[in-house]
Order: sequence, then C-alpha cells, then structure tokens
Amino acid sequence: MTLFDAISTPLPRRLREGLDRIAAAMRADEWGVAEEAGLTPTQLHALTFIAGRGDVGMRLRAVAEHLGVTQPTATDSIAALARKGLVVKLPDSEDKRAVAIRVTPAGCDVVRAIGLAMTSAERALETLTPPEQQTLLELVIKTIRALQQAKAIPPQRLCVTCRYFRPYAHEDAELPHHCALVDAAFGGRHLRLDCPEHDAAPPPVLEAAWRVFERRSA
Ligand code: SF4
Repeated sequence: MTLFDAISTPLPRRLREGLDRIAAAMRADEWGVAEEAGLTPTQLHALTFIAGRGDVGMRLRAVAEHLGVTQPTATDSIAALARKGLVVKLPDSEDKRAVAIRVTPAGCDVVRAIGLAMTSAERALETLTPPEQQTLLELVIKTIRALQQAKAIPPQRLCVTCRYFRPYAHEDAELPHHCALVDAAFGGRHLRLDCPEHDAAPPPVLEAAWRVFERRSA
C-alpha cells in the first residue's frame, strides 16, 4: 500500500464529490434557464419531460415519478404550466376516466428555446475531446443503469434497455450498434438517454444485450 492509498478517501466518494460540484453548476444553469422562461426548475423539468412524450401525453403519476417529487408537488407544477398556457389536460386516449397532460404549441416553443440555450456545463463538456465525450457518455449510461437497477431513479428510456437495441452488431468501429426499429447502424456517440421510441426490452433480452454492451464499451 502506498502513502496515498492510506490517506485518500475512497475513489467512489471523491467521484461523487466531483459530480456534486458539476451538479451545482448544472442546478445554477437550470435556475437561469427556468427564470428566463418564467418557470421554476420543477416546472421546467415537467414541461420538457411531457414534451418528450409528444401527442400521447403523460399521466400525472408518471410525471411525479420521473421528477422524483410527490404527486401534490407535480400537481402544483402542472397547474402552473396550465395557467401559463404551456400544457393542457385532456382525457387519456387509453382510459377515458384518466387525464393526460399534453404540451401546447406555446409549450413546444418554450421547450425549443430552452433546448437551444447553451449552458455552462455544456460549454465545459465541449472542452473534452470527442472520444472523451463518448467515453463519458458510456460511463454515465452505466451509472444511470446501476441507479435504475437499485430503484434509486425511475426507469429511463435508454438505448441499452430498449428491445430494438443490438449492441456491437456491426464490425464498423465508428457505427457498431444497430437500432432494429429504424434498421440502421449507430455509434457510441449516438446512444440515447431519453428516446421517444424506446420500448422496454423483456428481462432476458435486456440482460443478454447488457452483457455484450458492458463487456465491450468503456
Ligand atoms: S428505438 Fe430509440 S432507444 Fe431503442 S435502440 Fe432505437 S434509438 Fe435506441
């Protein structure tokens, strides 16, 4: 054991401390973007989440689960967004007794403007080389999946958990993966964290695909 092995805090703890610093910058970014749009960060998250589900709309419980907040908090945020004309509540197409929340055209305009806002975290990430960014994306995906497995976060719409994902189906180092939905090859840099077309893979398929991805990626 070296001197620094003896005096260093465990590596996962220092990584968490580093990620805390980055998260603090991201929270400050979010406050800035949300403030400019006249929203709170929770309203901003709810709006972008619902917009990502397109015309299908989302049930309130799903919004609350995704945001990691209570249903009353989600209800307040949705009510505020509705008052601003950014979302509407409509009967759910699958269950007439339920309500689906959908983004209005005005809400879509806000989401588009927010998406174009370059944050300080993005500018910092741009200083990494493209291979470093891809490696980081793969490591982030692995960490998100581990959190999902531990039920610390709700299921995410990741490529690596999708029934259409075929990891390392191609010999092409640039485009090794395959999306069976659109029947096209794609690269590690294209891996999605929130794909609207995501369809959860059944457990045995998911595990088999994950083993291949885990073995060969960063
Ligand atoms: S449908 Fe979306 S989540 Fe599924 S593999 Fe294709 S790009 Fe990835």
